[in-house]
Amino acid sequence: MERILITSAIPYINGIKHLGNLVGSQLPADLYARYQRGRGNEVMFLCATDEHGTPAELAAAKAGKPVAEYCAEMHEVQAEIAKGFCLSFDHFGRSSSPQNHALTQHFAGKLAEAGLIREVVEKQVYSNADGRFLPDRYIEGTCPNCGFEKARGDQCEECTKQLDPTDLINPRSAISGSTDLEVRETKHLYLCQSAMKDQLDAWIDSKADWPVLTTSIAKKWLHDGDGLQDRGITRDLDWGIPVKKGEEDWPGMEGKVFYVWFDAPIEYIACAKEWADAHGKADADWERWWRTDKGAEDVKYVQFMGKDNVPFHTLSFPATILGSGEPWKLVDHLKSFNYLNYDGGQFSTSQGRGVFMDQALEILPADYWRWWLLSHAPESSDSEFTWENFQQSVNKDLADVLGNFVSRITKFCRSKFGEEVPTGGEYGEQELALIEELTTRLRAYEQHMEAMEVRKSAQELRAIWVAGNEYLQSAAPWSVFKEDPERAAAQVRLGLNLIRFYAVLSAPFIPQASATLMAALNSSDMGWPTDVAAALSALPAGHGFTVPEVLFAKIADEQREDWQERFSGTRD
Ligand SMILES: [Zn+2]
Repeated sequence: MERILITSAIPYINGIKHLGNLVGSQLPADLYARYQRGRGNEVMFLCATDEHGTPAELAAAKAGKPVAEYCAEMHEVQAEIAKGFCLSFDHFGRSSSPQNHALTQHFAGKLAEAGLIREVVEKQVYSNADGRFLPDRYIEGTCPNCGFEKARGDQCEECTKQLDPTDLINPRSAISGSTDLEVRETKHLYLCQSAMKDQLDAWIDSKADWPVLTTSIAKKWLHDGDGLQDRGITRDLDWGIPVKKGEEDWPGMEGKVFYVWFDAPIEYIACAKEWADAHGKADADWERWWRTDKGAEDVKYVQFMGKDNVPFHTLSFPATILGSGEPWKLVDHLKSFNYLNYDGGQFSTSQGRGVFMDQALEILPADYWRWWLLSHAPESSDSEFTWENFQQSVNKDLADVLGNFVSRITKFCRSKFGEEVPTGGEYGEQELALIEELTTRLRAYEQHMEAMEVRKSAQELRAIWVAGNEYLQSAAPWSVFKEDPERAAAQVRLGLNLIRFYAVLSAPFIPQASATLMAALNSSDMGWPTDVAAALSALPAGHGFTVPEVLFAKIADEQREDWQERFSGTRD
């Protein structure tokens, strides 16, 4: 049995995510976790909400709530939606947890001990009206380059020129609109990533099995220009993890918090402790996943993320871990995704364009979305959601191929043999040929799933469903029954066993339908069907079943047009 640690990039707290976000990390991570559990491996699958930083503060202010209360509520909202999509996290944590506070402060202390933190005095814009320092992008003014009046302090969106807040003409606070701004000195901590360049370089070089795309992104950041830069890890904010050196105060850093980029990935680790604490387990139970001196040396650690997150996961977070000098588990495999576009444009959270996770579940069950998103995952390039393609994929793959197979075989059996697996006859040449084909396809499916090739896995699974349909079509038990009922009985027995075979193989993609099928078959045997011949005789003659309700309803043209219109823009 293998032990596999899986983390999904953690979603930011300020609002409900769209389907593009879902397919970029959480959903494929869930597919992999479910597959590995199905194979009998020990899995720890972790995700959390990323709760600190200015956007959370501003979203809370807009909602008229204290930020802690806002985050607690939004965490519950995101947790419920994750359940709705059957995301099988072992724990869905919070980066604002006491466990993450303690661990983030611990890492900062260890990095300071190792001489990898330096103090820098910076000049930053302070808003007297807001009573706070303003991050660059929360200062607005007129662009000195093109005259655009709503340029941000870090960049002009009109002419794309990179800016310093002090470059802006007539600068004002983007929060209150106040022009009562001044430049003040403030002290911050920097992580000396540049000092760790060689160590990180050697570590990346040791990853011969990583995709070139991943290593080349990391190498670019390590070597381009002046090479890897030191990075600020603190901010002048109220909401966040107070700056401390382990459990000790950090003189001169009173009232400051860690920068969200520093504490968010540490939550991957803290989340495991949250899991242990929530279940009354000992520290040893989570440490065996994360500490190589406490049992994690044989753990395989896989991270799932969007492509924009790759530099961060290959350099910044490893710098924190390696720099601590402690034996924490480093990532073994990264699976990154391109972007999913929406109907001729992009998903847009700010413009409410596209389908958001809560809306998706209001119109159709999770499996419909899971199947489409995973079978069209943006792996080698960006991919696009269109309603036509979604309708076609659901109607063909799920309703016509899988749903129809289940319906035909169970209904035919009920009408001729009753609601139990029929007795009599034996598997002949046609059945043996099917078993051989399924064995080849099953091995391919396993290989693709193991390699996290999501689209190829979906294609192979669909081909496995199709093979059953083609068998049924050519065996035609409804014709054979008139001449040779024993032969028809064997064919139907195979068909009913195929349903269980499908339920087990399909569970990582469509867990709800899988559960429906297993309940209809009156079986709880989710054992992986390594030996196809044995699996197709698992339900013995005489085993009772019920005909399930329609597994997947087809999407009608009117529904499709209605949804197309509804999701074209401006979510309220
Ligand atoms: Zn400009």
